Amino acid sequence: MPYQAMIADEIIQRRRIDPQDPQIAEAQKHRNSLFLGMDTTQGNQVRTLSIASWDAALKSFAKNCALSWKLASHQFRRKFANYAAHSRFGDLRYLKEHYAHWSMDMTLGYAMDESWGQHLDLELYSEIQDELEDIKLGVVDGWMGDESLAGGYGGAIKGWKREPENLLIFKDRASMLKSISGSTFIRSNGHAWCTADNDGCVGNTLERTRCTGCEHSVIGSIHAPMYQRLYDELKELLHCKDIGEGGRQRVERDLKRCRDVLVRLGMPPEDLSA
Ligand code: SF4
Repeated sequence: MPYQAMIADEIIQRRRIDPQDPQIAEAQKHRNSLFLGMDTTQGNQVRTLSIASWDAALKSFAKNCALSWKLASHQFRRKFANYAAHSRFGDLRYLKEHYAHWSMDMTLGYAMDESWGQHLDLELYSEIQDELEDIKLGVVDGWMGDESLAGGYGGAIKGWKREPENLLIFKDRASMLKSISGSTFIRSNGHAWCTADNDGCVGNTLERTRCTGCEHSVIGSIHAPMYQRLYDELKELLHCKDIGEGGRQRVERDLKRCRDVLVRLGMPPEDLSA
C-alpha cells in the first residue's frame, strides 16, 4: 500500500508539471499492482516487480534457507499450470486473458511459426493443455459412472448411456472417454459444467440457477452443497417483506430450480419442504 500511494503521488506530480506526460499512463498501469518494488537506479521509481527482481529475491530467499538451489521464477510454471487448470474458474476464459493469442481449441498450430512464436512459452502451454486434458477426462469419467446427474446435458448423457448400442461404437471405455472429452467443451462455472461453446451466457454470472434447466449443463454431486446452501438462503429470503411481488416470484422460481436439482441428485423430496 505505501508503494501504491507513492505511485499515486507520482501521477499527481507528473500531472502538475505536464498533463500530457506519457509516463502518467505508464504509472497508472502499475498503480494497483500487488507486487511493487522501488528501482533505485530510476530515482526511486515504484513499479511492478520485474522478472529479474523476482529472480533476485528468490535466489536470496533460497540462500537464506541455506539451500544451494538456484531458485528462479520459471520453475513455478508447472505449478502455475496445475493451479490454473485446476482452479474452479480455471478455464480457458482465464487462460485466454492471461496469454494473449491463446488459441481456444489449444491447437496452437499457428504459434509454432518460428519468428512469430518465439515470445510464447510453448512448453508452458503444452503443460497446461496436458493438465486440462487430464481434468476433462476425469470429469467425463465421473459423468459416465453411476453418479446421478442433473442439468439438461447431464440428463441426455444418462439417457445416451442407457442405450447399449451407443457404447458399442467405442473400442473400450478409455477410448470412449477420450472421444467424448475431446469433442465436448467443458467449462466449470462453479455451479455446473457448462458445455456451451462460449462463455457469454448470464448463467455463468448473473442468473446462476438458469443452468439447472439448460440443455448445455451437467450438474453432479460435487455441486450439491452449493444448491443446498442456495436453497436454504432462498427459503429465508422468502420471508422478507420488502422484496415485492416480482422478488417473491423470482425467489420461488429459484427455489424450485434448486429443489429439482437436489431431488435429481438423489435427495429425498421430503427433506426439501419449502
Ligand atoms: S445456462 Fe446453460 S449455457 Fe448458460 S452458463 Fe448455464 S449451462 Fe452454460
